[in-house]
Amino acid sequence: MKSDELFALLRRRGFLWPSAEIYGGAQGLFDYGPLGWGLKRRLEDAWTQWFVGLSDDYYRIEPAELLPEAVVRASGHLEHFTDLEVACGSCHSVFRADTVLERYRPEGVDGMSPEQVGELLTTYQVRCPSCGKTELSVPRPFNMMFGVDFGPTGGERAYLAPETAQASYLAFPRMWEVGRKALPLGIASVGKVYRNEIAPRQVLFRMRAFTQAELQIFFDPTTFAPPFASVASEPLPMLRAERRTAGEAAPELVTVRDLVDTGLLPAFYAYHLAVSYRFYRDVLGHPANSIRLYEKSDKERAFYNKIQYDIELHLDSLGGYRELGAVHYRGDYDLTRHAQGSRKDLSVKTEDGRRLLPHVLELTFGLDRNLWALADRHLAVDGERTVFRLPPYLAPVPLGLFPLLKKEHGLFARELQHRLQGAGVPADFDDAGSIGKRYARADEAGTPFAVTVDGESVADGPNRGTVTLRERDSKAQVRLGFEGLLARVAPTLRLPSAPVDAR
Ligand SMILES: [Zn+2]
Repeated sequence: MKSDELFALLRRRGFLWPSAEIYGGAQGLFDYGPLGWGLKRRLEDAWTQWFVGLSDDYYRIEPAELLPEAVVRASGHLEHFTDLEVACGSCHSVFRADTVLERYRPEGVDGMSPEQVGELLTTYQVRCPSCGKTELSVPRPFNMMFGVDFGPTGGERAYLAPETAQASYLAFPRMWEVGRKALPLGIASVGKVYRNEIAPRQVLFRMRAFTQAELQIFFDPTTFAPPFASVASEPLPMLRAERRTAGEAAPELVTVRDLVDTGLLPAFYAYHLAVSYRFYRDVLGHPANSIRLYEKSDKERAFYNKIQYDIELHLDSLGGYRELGAVHYRGDYDLTRHAQGSRKDLSVKTEDGRRLLPHVLELTFGLDRNLWALADRHLAVDGERTVFRLPPYLAPVPLGLFPLLKKEHGLFARELQHRLQGAGVPADFDDAGSIGKRYARADEAGTPFAVTVDGESVADGPNRGTVTLRERDSKAQVRLGFEGLLARVAPTLRLPSAPVDAR
C-alpha cells in the first residue's frame, strides 16, 4: 500500500489522525485513537518484556520529560542539536538545507559548516522549492529543542526532552546506589520526546512529538560478556559500510559467532545486535528478508559513537528501507560529559577494585515508526478483505464477540464477555450489522479471533453453551465450549520473552 492509502485507512478506522484536525492539522503531530493506542501499548509492552527481560540487571524507570538547561548544556544538545535552515529572500519560505540540496548531494551535509553549505547552494544554483527563485540565504543553525520557561518568566529555562537517553544517564548514580552495585546495569525508559523539526514528513517517521523506547546499558568494556550461546549460530543480514563503499547494496548473512571470531564486532555488541534483530523477526513478525543491519560509517555516525548499526526494514509505503531502531556503542562519552557538567565523580568501583567510568551501549527504538512499520508489513488488501495480520499478542483487540441476533443472544454474549475478561482475554462486543460486516471490521482492526453466539449456544441440546470461533488468518471455524475457547486463545496472547539460555 502507498503511504497515502495506508494513512487514509488508519485514519478511517481511528488508529490515528493529525492533531488539531479541525484546524487543518498540526504539522508533525498525531493523535492515536482507541485502536492506535491499544496497538502502541502492546508494542511498548512487547519491547519492555523482550529487552528489559534480557538480564536481571536491566530495569525500567519513568523519568520526567523536562530537562534543566544545565543538562542539555553538558550533553551537547544546546550547542549541537541543530539542523541547518535556509530562508528564501523572495517568498520567505524556510527549508532544511539538506532537503533543498538532496538532488545534488544525496549523502547529506552532516559535518559541513554553514558557509560550506552556502557555497553548495551557489555552486548548484539551487532554486527555492516554493517560488523557484535563486535567492536562498546562507544557512544558519537552528536548534531543534523546545525551550520553555521553568518557573516565573525571566527565570530558569528548561527543555522538553529531545531523547529519553539523557534521563537514563542522569539516573545512573542513583540506580547504582539502589541496585546491586555491579556492572552491567541496564536502565530502560519509554517516553515522549520533542523535536522542533523544520520539515516534519513521512507521517510517523519525522514527527515533532514521538515516543522513544531506549535501553542504556552501563558496562565495563574489559569484562562485559553476555552469554550468547543461544544466538551464536544466528545468521545476521549485515550491510557493512565497507561493502557499501565497494558498491554492494545487498546484505550478506554472517553468523554472530563469525562476527565475533573474525574480530568484526565485540561479543557484547554482536549479542545485542542479534537480540534486536530477533525482536523484529520473532516478536514483531517481520519477514527476515525485509530486515537489514546497516552500518553507519565513521563519517555518517556521531563522533562519540564507536560502533553503530541501524536496524532497517523495507517498507512498501515509503518505497525503500527505513531506520526503525539502532544499537550505539557510545564509549564513556555520556558519563564524561555529565561528570564535567555536574562536577560529580560518576565513576564506580569494579569488583576487582578498579575505578571506572562505565561505557554505554544504547539500544534505541522509535515506537511510532515501528507502529507504522507493523501496518506497512501486516495490513493488506486480500481480494475483498482488508486484513491486519498482527501477531495476536500485539492486537489492540484480541477477540471480537458477536451475538448473531441482538435480542436472543445478547445476554449470553455479555456473560461470556465477563468470563473472558476475568480470564485475562479482553473481548470487544459488537452486535451491529451483519456477521459479514462485523468480521470485516474485526479483520481491519487486526483482531485475530471472532466468536459468534447463535441459537445453538442458548438452546437446550448438545451444543448449549458452545460458540463458533473464527480465526482471522485461516478463516477456519470451529465450535467450542468456554474451556476450549480459552485454551485456543489465551496462549497466543502471551508476549514472547528473549531466549532463557541467553542470560
Ligand atoms: Zn521562495
